[in-house]
Amino acid sequence: MSAIRIDGNEISKSVNAETAAEVEALAQKYGVRPGLAVILAGENPASQVYVSRKVKMCEELGIVSKKIILPESVSQEELISIIDDLNKDDSIHGILVQSPTPKQISEKAVINAIDPKKDVDCFHPANVGKVFLGDLSGFLPCTPWGVSVLLEKSGISTAGKHVVVLGRSAIVGRPMAALLLARGANGDATVTVCHSKTPDLPSFTRQADIVIAALGIPQFLKGDMVKDGAVVIDVGINRIPCATTKSGFKLVGDVDFDALVEKTSAITPVPGGVGPMTIAMLMKNTVRAFKMSKGE
Ligand code: NDP
Repeated sequence: MSAIRIDGNEISKSVNAETAAEVEALAQKYGVRPGLAVILAGENPASQVYVSRKVKMCEELGIVSKKIILPESVSQEELISIIDDLNKDDSIHGILVQSPTPKQISEKAVINAIDPKKDVDCFHPANVGKVFLGDLSGFLPCTPWGVSVLLEKSGISTAGKHVVVLGRSAIVGRPMAALLLARGANGDATVTVCHSKTPDLPSFTRQADIVIAALGIPQFLKGDMVKDGAVVIDVGINRIPCATTKSGFKLVGDVDFDALVEKTSAITPVPGGVGPMTIAMLMKNTVRAFKMSKGE
């Protein structure tokens, strides 16, 4: 069997085109554009890249962005005071603080300080709670939402399927399970969540119609761990040493792609799978925030 390679670059392009058209229509209607504030504290190189990508995507889609760069030494009080100002700023509809924050800052305190109506990362307990209660009318968690859209646009329904999620983090595994459990076309799955304390993990993945891997372990999911014809979605992004690239590194996922591509019915590559979807869904949440601010 040769798998369909789910192309996250193409699918994210079509999502972004829809978003750009919606932004334009909203700008015509209201005379103002959605605004996203992106806060980066410190000089983590990966975070700098992520923040630049988000700002660039805003520009491409007609969303106004405000980039706020703070020193590594910024105090929690200073950061929260900046968030308070952005909470009150009517031109800003979405606020995100790039993770990880410097060690003196509690990410929990920062997330709690963001007005839930501007929490476009969908990290605030009020928004997470809604999602877990099956109410998908507000913000949705960006990476899991991106996975749902990849499946939907590839014609793969989760309804009635057994989906095994590998990883139980607050940003991927848990909210992924919540979306899959929700009622509706992109939910209605029977969900198993595995983590580091799961004994005999392959006995679960071998039963799965769909495996979603989000562990942060390079090429963890091997060919003998899934049944023939399964769908495999790889959320992992890992940098591993590589002698043949100029940088000396290459990106791989949590899935042994070469071993699985012949065995699965559909699979996402890394890079070019889930990765580009996360920013696309962040942009969609920003548009949702704008519409909510207008009572839509
Ligand atoms: P975390 O480190 O927060 O969570 C990893 C999860 O995997 C934990 O629940 C952990 O279990 C579980 N785990 C670790 N080792 C094992 C093991 N041997 N067997 C079973 N489960 C295990 O990672 P994230 O969820 O933040 O990220 C996961 C991956 O996804 C990373 O590669 C990250 O870079 C990538 N990522 C990609 C995004 C994208 O846009 N494509 C966005 C976010 C993340 P336990 O809870 O028991 O410790």
